[in-house]
Amino acid sequence: MPAMNRNPADMTDRPRSCSLLIDPVRLHALLGEARGRFDVDSLAECPSTSTLLLRRAEQGAPAGSVIVAERQTAGRGSRGRSWLASPQSSLTFSVLWRFPGGIERLAGLSLAVGVAVLQALEACGASGVTLKWPNDILHGDAKLGGILVELQSEPDQALAVVGIGLNLSLPESIGEGQGFALPAAALDGILAPLPERHELFAQLLIALARVFDRFAEGGFAALREQWLARHAWQDRPVRLLREGRVVNEGVCCGADSDGALLVRTAAGVERCLSGDLSLRAL
Ligand code: ATP
Repeated sequence: MPAMNRNPADMTDRPRSCSLLIDPVRLHALLGEARGRFDVDSLAECPSTSTLLLRRAEQGAPAGSVIVAERQTAGRGSRGRSWLASPQSSLTFSVLWRFPGGIERLAGLSLAVGVAVLQALEACGASGVTLKWPNDILHGDAKLGGILVELQSEPDQALAVVGIGLNLSLPESIGEGQGFALPAAALDGILAPLPERHELFAQLLIALARVFDRFAEGGFAALREQWLARHAWQDRPVRLLREGRVVNEGVCCGADSDGALLVRTAAGVERCLSGDLSLRAL
């Protein structure tokens, strides 16, 4: 993979002595056939791995560029929300990928990424982890991780920066999780012992490469069955909110081949596109 054109300002803070820092050489050895597809930059600290990767994309960073940060000082969720993480407790990283065609073809990408994350966790031995439409990773009704997909149009293709944050243990900064729509969960409550950080990260990248390939060929339709098999709230009564106001209520009946949520209401089955909607179980 070609070396990236890096901004020296991004490279100021990367002490290699810290044991929690991902070592790209060690990671490389664990990636198997996916080895040639990723170029991983491991940082001690940055505001947000996705923000930095979007900037590098504008400077021509290739598909497969990855930034993993031991500490994010301004980790982002969707719609300006924060993702809380700490070096000991979290794995936070972003991956840049490019897909043929326009961005409208990528509507279901955050769901497809969820499939990859679950496949990786399952390969590490986790069970009972599920997916909440469109971008949350749950254990029970608690949130174990989040996915943030950001898209940009390029000539004849679309660029995606996929940010993933996983709780290995509960970050102290979460406290009681006041104001969170869902309680937080952590992998150390699901898997004992926890997988070694590089092994977990390698499984995630391997699964992402596979899922990106399938998505590029067949869109979300090619991964829909796998998503449905891991869907957290299938057949549960749910409510959809926009800016805190209820806009729909019904029974959650999965997602269609574009990744739109299907909700059975008195008026029939309605398609709900993500964007500014929040899904809550009743
Ligand atoms: P939606 O309204 O679509 O359901 P959300 O509340 O899940 O969105 P996201 O952008 O997906 O929002 O994730 C950010 C939210 O996740 C934060 O506002 C906070 O409630 C919660 N959160 C932040 N950090 C963590 C964490 N480490 N573990 C679990 N939950 C977190």
